[in-house]
Amino acid sequence: MKTFDHTGKVIAVTGGSRGIGEAIVRRLCEEGAHVFATFNSQPERAQNIANEIIESGGRVTFLQVNVGDEESVKGFVEAVVTQGGRVDGLVNNAGITKDGLIMRMNAKDWQDVIDTNLTGVFYTCKAVARPMMSQRAGRIVNIGSIVGLQGNAGQVNYSSAKAGLVGLTKSLARELASRNVFVNCIAPGLVETDMTDKLTDEQRASFFGNIPMKRAAHPDEIASVVSFFMASESSYITGQVLNVDGGLAM
Ligand code: NDP
Repeated sequence: MKTFDHTGKVIAVTGGSRGIGEAIVRRLCEEGAHVFATFNSQPERAQNIANEIIESGGRVTFLQVNVGDEESVKGFVEAVVTQGGRVDGLVNNAGITKDGLIMRMNAKDWQDVIDTNLTGVFYTCKAVARPMMSQRAGRIVNIGSIVGLQGNAGQVNYSSAKAGLVGLTKSLARELASRNVFVNCIAPGLVETDMTDKLTDEQRASFFGNIPMKRAAHPDEIASVVSFFMASESSYITGQVLNVDGGLAM
């Protein structure tokens, strides 16, 4: 589906090899962008997606990146700017969960989730800030979560990282707005991906019971909102958190 026109734009997307990130990559490519996407552990999957996009006329480049490693992130952004010539957009989508009630959560499970889901976003934003400020143009979209706003039992690590993204989004939006660089956050509710495949039937039923639309989102329903934030149609919006959650939090 084509909604907005991103012809000629260069957009970086972390975690593009599965789930929401894959849908974002496919959408932005269909809309004309040259997308530089990352994978971490699944090169074959990334290669298959790239082949399909390129066969249908799109432009995509997949690179292996660990967002929790600053040098890896710097190398990624340098590759985007060198090969793409500029960087118009950044979508911070890569994320992991390591759930457990606090009494059973060890320090590593806490740290791994903070490193990937929050510190990784600091690294990518820091790396794109200079080129975007020099261009006097740029869009950053952070994929947060409704649990960063509401909390969730069993996810103190994940919800803390996602709550941190809200502060990062608003602070960075204030720092960069005068340079025409806008920063927003999308907070999805439940989305059908590998991440939510781990939920038990009981957890799923309990989630659906609380969602006014009584269903999970399709990843494409998150991708279309990312596309909007990348488009000229959202030119007066920065520092916002938009819930895309079927009415779960209101
Ligand atoms: P998936 O588990 O399906 O995919 C995660 C993606 O992140 C993969 O592409 C993976 O790469 C990549 N990734 C994981 N760790 C790293 C790392 N250290 N460095 C670089 N890339 C990494 O996740 P979803 O699509 O479900 O979630 C995407 C985002 O949306 C996450 O930020 C998540 O927190 C958020 N979200 C998801 C919700 C849901 O219901 N699914 C709800 C709310 C928010 P690879 O496969 O190559 O390892």
